[in-house]
Amino acid sequence: MILLNPGPVNLSERVRAALLRPDICHREPEFFTLQNEIRRGLLQVYDLDGDAWASVLLTGSGTAAVEAMIATLAPSDSTLMVIENGVYGERLTAIARAYGLAPLAVTHEWSRPIDLAAVESKIASNDGLSHIAVVHHETTTGRLNQLDRLAGLCKAHGLELLIDAVSSFGAEAIDFEAWPVAACAATANKCLHSIPGTAFVIVRRQALRDTKASRRSVYLDLRAYCEAQDEDGTPFTQSIQSYYALGEALDEFFEQGGWRQRHAHYHALAEQVREGLFEFGVAPLLPAEASSVVLRAYHLPAEMDYAGLHDQLKARGFVIYAGQGALSRRIFRISTMGDIGAADMHRFLAAMGQIL
Ligand SMILES: *Cc1c(COP(=O)(O)O)cnc(C)c1O
Repeated sequence: MILLNPGPVNLSERVRAALLRPDICHREPEFFTLQNEIRRGLLQVYDLDGDAWASVLLTGSGTAAVEAMIATLAPSDSTLMVIENGVYGERLTAIARAYGLAPLAVTHEWSRPIDLAAVESKIASNDGLSHIAVVHHETTTGRLNQLDRLAGLCKAHGLELLIDAVSSFGAEAIDFEAWPVAACAATANKCLHSIPGTAFVIVRRQALRDTKASRRSVYLDLRAYCEAQDEDGTPFTQSIQSYYALGEALDEFFEQGGWRQRHAHYHALAEQVREGLFEFGVAPLLPAEASSVVLRAYHLPAEMDYAGLHDQLKARGFVIYAGQGALSRRIFRISTMGDIGAADMHRFLAAMGQIL
């Protein structure tokens, strides 16, 4: 079965085989060796210096990392702005509210780009902002939010960014130097091609030291994880098998050439799909230049409902992904993450051709 949903992804055989390594205890040195290798590897993805940055590992899906980031770093005495242009931006607001915060949301329709003028005027008219939470790749529509100019605005106003990079980390450019990033949340099972189970936050160490947030969570407190992991420890049991798989997936990632190579690979597959579907009259929701290389959304072909398309494709060995909310009747989504290649996309397009 070829998975064209945005994670979990098809695994390579070497990552799958890593799941069968020996049973170990999470309080023994062999576990900490593995944990340290993974933490170093995750920083290496974007060439980050371990004195300035920490990667903090959690057991959970991507949302656990996003929630830990907000719970730990959204300050108690200042306001968090949240940018919403899809399901995941709206989830950032929901998380902040669940912790009793009153975030200032800048809302957009789901298929719209970030309205920088609206963001700027809200910054100007609200004292006491300190952070902006934003989704990098909004998986709802496949839009890659352009964070360069938002980062410029943040810098001009002394604000820091909390980024949901769950579906972009490892395949899209993230400028940790130029952008005022306090933290960036991501997961093992999307662009890094491992299994679900380990999520992580890349956090600026200074931001963790400086945070004025009160302790809001016992399980999702990044400070506790970071302190323990820096000292060869872990506050709670981690998913050992998920660590094995992520360690192997990172080795494979670097052997294949790192994030730029992964970006190029995804780009080639995404364009192959876009061009192939165009031949059948299936149009993308967004222009290619506004889209990520990770996932693209397409209008459902006329007179075809999603369930029918999904089931016929599944019978031929391909899992596609529905739209969310009101988009569920209008679009379908194709992600090209995972251990898949041009030949798989070729067969997928042939199957689409038969169905249409
Ligand atoms: C996948 C995803 C998440 C996390 O979803 P989980 O189901 O918790 O893994 C968060 N944000 C974005 C943008 C995503 O694509």
